[in-house]
Amino acid sequence: MSEASDLVIAVDGPAGSGKSSVCRGVAGALRMRYLDTGAMYRAMTVAVLAAGVDLGDEAAVTAVAEQTVITSGTDPEHPEIWLGDMEVSEVIRGSEVTAAVSPVSAVPGVRYRLVEVQRSQVQAARESGVGIVVEGRDIGTVVLPDADLKVFLVADPEIRARRRALENSADGQLEQAFVAATHEALIKRDAYDSGRENSPLMRAEDARVVDTTDFTLAEVIEQVCALATGVR
Ligand code: C5P
Repeated sequence: MSEASDLVIAVDGPAGSGKSSVCRGVAGALRMRYLDTGAMYRAMTVAVLAAGVDLGDEAAVTAVAEQTVITSGTDPEHPEIWLGDMEVSEVIRGSEVTAAVSPVSAVPGVRYRLVEVQRSQVQAARESGVGIVVEGRDIGTVVLPDADLKVFLVADPEIRARRRALENSADGQLEQAFVAATHEALIKRDAYDSGRENSPLMRAEDARVVDTTDFTLAEVIEQVCALATGVR
């Protein structure tokens, strides 16, 4: 077994690039904590949808964000996300949440609130001498510009759509129309996330780009672990 790592690793990339599986695998292999910031934005979206406010009304969305408490677990084997005292790990993956999460995440008041929580979880890991892998869209650029290692995961959009469609397929079968619809939704979400004014999806200048298109999950985990080993 590899030695435990005390690094802070920032992993960014577009939807379906393999971030969650790769980050959980790396955190498990190197005995680190794991933080899924996308899950936090999704949980905030659940709160905004439940409040019934107009997604385009920044002040109203910010008011919901200010009253909402989101807590995230950091165990890569059992990622948990809580909205107040409600566990929402499954609810956040629903299509209604996925369709609304980008506009909610573009609101500065939402980001301000969640970035604060994210940084404090990383600080807690640092203080206990434990490493942490943090995944998102703006981790290497905004949330943790001093991360020990920054990775930007990319993959061919067709492959990303097939992976995501497979994850969402009830019987493991892939229908062409479903893959095409998933592809369209991914491209739309990436465009929204990359085009927003506040903390857009962007590669940090010092991030290592890892293209996952032609590799298995195990191979990509190995590549990122090798990068981590090279840091110290
Ligand atoms: O990673 P996941 O696809 O679950 O993220 C859902 C959404 O949350 C993204 O499409 C993006 O709008 C938002 N997000 C963000 N910043 C992050 C992580 C996710 O804006 N650091």
